[in-house]
Amino acid sequence: MTSLTDCQALDAQDPLAPLRALFSLPDGVIYLDGNSLGALPRAVPARVAEVVAREWGQGLVQSWNAAHWFELPRRVGDKIAPLIGAAPGEVVATDTTSINLYKVLSAALNIAAQDAPGRRVIVSERSNFPTDLYIAEALCRQQGCTLRLIEPHELPTSLTPDVAVLMLTHVNYRTGAMHDMAAVSAAAHAAGALVVWDLAHSAGAVPVDLNGAGADFAVGCGYKYLNGGPGAPAFVWAHARHVDRFWQPLAGWWGHADPFAFTPGYRPASGITRYQCGTQPIVALSALDCALDVFADAETLGGMAALRTKSLALTDLFVAAVEALCPGQFDLVTPRAHAQRGSQVCLTPTTALPQGSAYAIVQALIARGVVGDFRAGDARQSDILRFGFTPLYLTYQNVLMSAQHLRDVLQKQEYLEPRFTQRHAVT
Ligand SMILES: *Cc1c(COP(=O)(O)O)cnc(C)c1O
Repeated sequence: MTSLTDCQALDAQDPLAPLRALFSLPDGVIYLDGNSLGALPRAVPARVAEVVAREWGQGLVQSWNAAHWFELPRRVGDKIAPLIGAAPGEVVATDTTSINLYKVLSAALNIAAQDAPGRRVIVSERSNFPTDLYIAEALCRQQGCTLRLIEPHELPTSLTPDVAVLMLTHVNYRTGAMHDMAAVSAAAHAAGALVVWDLAHSAGAVPVDLNGAGADFAVGCGYKYLNGGPGAPAFVWAHARHVDRFWQPLAGWWGHADPFAFTPGYRPASGITRYQCGTQPIVALSALDCALDVFADAETLGGMAALRTKSLALTDLFVAAVEALCPGQFDLVTPRAHAQRGSQVCLTPTTALPQGSAYAIVQALIARGVVGDFRAGDARQSDILRFGFTPLYLTYQNVLMSAQHLRDVLQKQEYLEPRFTQRHAVT
C-alpha cells in the first residue's frame, strides 16, 4: 500500500499543489465534502466586502453601470464556459439549478413538440437527484407529458420512438458513476430525442465538452466544485442551434431584448441572455465570480486535464487505502473504471458492520476532522458514506489520513457512541 512517505513524495511532485494556498480551510480539517459545498477561496471575503462597501455603499445605483453589475451573469458565464466545453457567450450564471432545469426542459419539450409532435415522454434515471425529477414531474403535469424513470442499465433500450427528451445527471450524486456524455448524446440523437445534462457534480470536477459531445442543453451548480458559496447562482447553457428557437417559460425582464425600454410586450433577447429571468443576486454572483479565478490559476498549471489526473489518483488512493485498512467492512459503490467515475468515492458498510451504522461512522469521522457526508438508502439502495475529492486543495497525505481515521473509527468502535447517532436536519 502507498505509505505516508510515498504520499509526501506525491505531494512534493504535485503540479497543482500551489492551488491549496488559494483556499481558506480550517486547521485540522480534511474536507471531503466539496461536492456538497465547495470550500472558501481565500480571495472571496475581501471581494464580497468590496462589493458591499464600495460598489453598493458608495456607488449605489450607478454601480449597475459603473461596476458592470448588469453584465455580471454573462461575465461569470464566460468564466464557466471553458470548464464545460462551451463557447464565450453561451453560458449565463443565474438562478438555481432547479429553476434552470425547468427552463431548459421546457424549451426542449417545445422544440420536440414542433419537430417531432408524437414524442411526449421525458426519460430520466430513478436514481437522479430528486429535485431534477420533481421539476420534470411538475413540467410533465403542466404539459400533459410523461416522465419515465429507468435504471442505468436500461438506458440503451429506453430511447423508444415516444421519447422527446433524455434528462440525465452526468455524474450521479449518490454513486459517483459518470456517463459517457458523447456516446449517450449520440445515442439519444440517433433515436430522435434531445438530451439535457445536469453538470452539478461535473463542472470544475471532471473535463466536460458540451459542444464536442453535441449536447442540446445543460445546467449546473455554482456552490459545489465551483466553490461559489452556499446558494451560489447556478448556470445554464443551450446549444447554438437551439438557443434562439424558443422563449424559456420564465420570461422576465432580464431576458428581454431591451429591458430598459419598459415595453408591455415581451421580446426575448437573442442568445443565452434570454435564459435570465429577473434581477440577480449581485453579492452572491460576485462571490462566484471571484471563486472562479481559482480555475484561471489552475489553467496555468494544466487545467481540467491536470485536475482530472489528480482526482483519479486521489480517488484510486482512497479506495486502495480503505480496502487495505478496513478489509471486508465496506463495499465500493462507485465504479472502479476511471471512465465511469466522477470525483467522489462512495462506500456502503458490509454485514461485517452493524446494520444502520453508516450515519454514525460519518459523524465519528467528522468529529475527527474528516468531513464527508451520509446519504440514506431505501428499499432499492443501501446507505452510503460519500466522500468528494477536490484536487484543488486536497493532498495525497489528506487522503491516506482519511482512510486511517476511518480504520480507527471502526477499530475503536467510535460509531457506537450515542452522540454520533443523533440526526441533524441537513446530512
Ligand atoms: C446539487 C444538485 C442540485 C441542486 O439544485 P438546487 O436548485 O441548487 O438546489 C440539482 N441537481 C443535482 C443533480 C445536484 O447534484
